[in-house]
Amino acid sequence: MVQPTEPEFEQAYSELLLTLEDSTLFDKKPHLKAVLPVVSIPERTIMFRVVWQDDKGQMQVNRGYRVQFNSALGPYKGGLRFHPSVNLSILKFLGYEQIFKNALTGLSIGGGKGGADFDPKGKSDGEIRRFCEAFMRELSRHIDQDTDVPAGDIGVGGREIGFLFGAFRRYRNSFQGVLTGKGLTWGGSLIRPEATGYGLVYYVEKMLEYASLGTFAGKIVAVSGSGNVAQYAALKAIELGATVVSLSDSKGAYVAKGAAGFSAEEISLIADVKLNRLDLYSLDDKFKAKFDYYAGARPWTLIKKIDIALPSATQNEVSAADAEALIRAGCKIIAEGSNMGSTMEAIEIFEKARTSTSDSSIWYAPGKAANCGGVAVSGLEMAQNSQRISWSTQEVDQKLKEIMINCFENCLNTSITYSSIKDEKLPSLVKGANIAGFIKVAEAMLDQGDFY
Ligand code: GLU
Repeated sequence: MVQPTEPEFEQAYSELLLTLEDSTLFDKKPHLKAVLPVVSIPERTIMFRVVWQDDKGQMQVNRGYRVQFNSALGPYKGGLRFHPSVNLSILKFLGYEQIFKNALTGLSIGGGKGGADFDPKGKSDGEIRRFCEAFMRELSRHIDQDTDVPAGDIGVGGREIGFLFGAFRRYRNSFQGVLTGKGLTWGGSLIRPEATGYGLVYYVEKMLEYASLGTFAGKIVAVSGSGNVAQYAALKAIELGATVVSLSDSKGAYVAKGAAGFSAEEISLIADVKLNRLDLYSLDDKFKAKFDYYAGARPWTLIKKIDIALPSATQNEVSAADAEALIRAGCKIIAEGSNMGSTMEAIEIFEKARTSTSDSSIWYAPGKAANCGGVAVSGLEMAQNSQRISWSTQEVDQKLKEIMINCFENCLNTSITYSSIKDEKLPSLVKGANIAGFIKVAEAMLDQGDFY
């Protein structure tokens, strides 16, 4: 299942396996054990070359991929990532997480992921458009609204989805809901850009309530990242009365000097900078009076007092040392907006501290549960496209809230049902998410004879 050259996929696979084995799942449902080696191999992997022309008229070449991991619950669904670090290991880990995340939304969507090792940083709009066109030249042969519906991820936002959608329409002569995250006038859903960040905050609201920790009002929230997920998680937390004290990018972190955190206006400046594919540091003239900049750093070790941590940048952005620093800072809740945001060692530290009776207890929610709001609203976009209608902001936001509440309760109750330890004050959400997602997919595969 796991190839020796696939460290990120191995991590995602081991994390799932360890949590399933460390529960009563296979005692209660022994027939599901045989599913694990099958579900861990993608149904299909497509790898292709992408040849495109830069602004100087030179030919450039990149590697393109689509991992069609599992379609037992619906069409393959998951984003496209354009980043120089993209390789098969990264996309297999993301695709694997996506299968179980999508199951947790309660919607009819299978799991997949794709992308390219293309770096959008420093590229012109023309270069981005030509790259998207070239990427879709091959991908358009393999996707369709009922087969595989990609969306955005790191490096792929509304602009890229527009170029990709247009290219698909021209190659295939077909206007259909084949991508999500589309523009509002051509099939997109309201709230899709906000959905991952908002959904993350809705999930944490339920954690706070269950743990009797109050609401977001008055809480100190540390956020990493500054892309779509981080921006909307921060904005929703601020709207609910929290103080957001940090944001970051791959080059460094901004941390509030005093009691005042980021304002909605400052976050909109960040949104402009990101749209122009610039570094966060380009805002330093505007930010330096209120925020300290730490080059090359992540926020976790830099803040003395934190109530809630929302890693929303990329995989493995919380190390064991970061986990310990968060606990020392008094952090009570950590919920991932990023996919596989914490290393295995960090999760181990959080899971140990979860059961601590002292003041150092912390409750950890993995990305596949806490960040499922984004793909959930993608699922709602597909539903609207099929009916050729669009729902209002309130309707979509309400549905998103319900999905996040159901996801939280599903993780919690599944954890209680299958935990080998009774009466835990804070049941393990990582176990609950993995077991609930796995059962749903495994039973669908058995029902559909995926074993013959
Ligand atoms: N890339 C997002 C994720 O990691 C969204 C995928 C989608 O909307 O299909 O879940």
